[in-house]
Amino acid sequence: MTYSLDFHLPTRIIFGLGRIRELRKNLPPGIKRIVVATDPSVAEASGVLPAMAEQLEDLEVGVFDEVEPNPSLATVENGAALARDFRADLIIGAGGGSPMDAAKGIALLATNDGAMTDYMSRDELHNTPLPVICIPTTSGTGSEVTPYAVFTNPDDQSKGGYSNPGIFPTVSIIDPELTFSMPESVVIDTGLDALTHAIEAYLSTLSSPLSDMFALRAIEIIRDRLAAAAANDADAMCDISFAAMTAGVAIAHAGTILLHVMGYPLTVFHDVPHGRANAALLPAFMEFMKKRSRARDKIACLEGIFEPAAGIAKFVSDLGVSTNLVSYGVAEDEIDTFVDKCVVKDDLRITPADVTGDDIRDIFTRALGAD
Ligand code: NAD
Repeated sequence: MTYSLDFHLPTRIIFGLGRIRELRKNLPPGIKRIVVATDPSVAEASGVLPAMAEQLEDLEVGVFDEVEPNPSLATVENGAALARDFRADLIIGAGGGSPMDAAKGIALLATNDGAMTDYMSRDELHNTPLPVICIPTTSGTGSEVTPYAVFTNPDDQSKGGYSNPGIFPTVSIIDPELTFSMPESVVIDTGLDALTHAIEAYLSTLSSPLSDMFALRAIEIIRDRLAAAAANDADAMCDISFAAMTAGVAIAHAGTILLHVMGYPLTVFHDVPHGRANAALLPAFMEFMKKRSRARDKIACLEGIFEPAAGIAKFVSDLGVSTNLVSYGVAEDEIDTFVDKCVVKDDLRITPADVTGDDIRDIFTRALGAD
């Protein structure tokens, strides 16, 4: 076969236990004023802030610890105002996907006037964003290696992604020790987010043999190690950090598809954590793809990978995650609103099936009646 592909990953990846101690030596040259975007729970639980503080003592550091899960556009704009007042020359995102994405938005708005929404629908930026260092404390989003950031817009009750190569982190320090404090539910939710990234990137029409390598490895690791990671096995937690990163590399190149689009309304309207929302819909999504997608060989390959776990639906439910939307408080009369939120999303274009609003309604309806 003759391959034709593009692969661009400008982020320096530093991975390993204890490697947070190498933050200082990996700062870009000349950095003097840093804003750290984080959330208050992470700051307390993971130990990331003290580990950073001891290395940055002689620099000016401002902490913006107001990032909530699924950060709002307003949060990013508040963080950017702080970064501008502080005259920051670097933004560090320390935490899960929420603080890492907020850091990317803050870095962009620190050097570009206007609101985040001004940039969400176009490609050009007036100025280069500030450099960003990502330090993940969850093992799921892969934001540490992607050019994406996802924000919630409370005005129209939607979640939307921003994508621009200018927001790839300059450096990411992935120290799995920082994830050890995650409660079991966060290990499972974020690990399943990584699983859905890998599955969606593998199926995406933008996938390539190179992105498939990253996606398939992530899927196998998560299949084999997520249950042990959820039971606090340190070695397995390291493996899941690695898988989350490799799944992130896969989505950086192939994107996420219909499933992620469908997960957003569950988070916005029912507060279902991001990864759990995707996992809850995964079996119904896979059934749809099996019947209707143009990627049948890949669906068959995924079925084979999950054979040892007695199928994807069983794998998800064995982790204690319900695949019945009723258990998240979803009612049938909400489905039309959910469908309206999905049909406008660009990611449908890279889903290897002709997806209509009725199809999306059927997938939600199936998940409402799931066992
Ligand atoms: P999160 O950052 O929202 O964190 C979830 C919860 O876990 C929070 O309460 C947080 O305080 C807690 N937590 C985080 N690390 C902890 C630790 N070590 N110990 C104890 N508690 C800890 O969750 P997430 O799933 O990592 O990120 C979700 C966000 O990322 C969503 O907004 C999602 O849309 C976005 N996302 C972005 C990308 C991307 O490429 N940029 C990809 C997928 C998802």
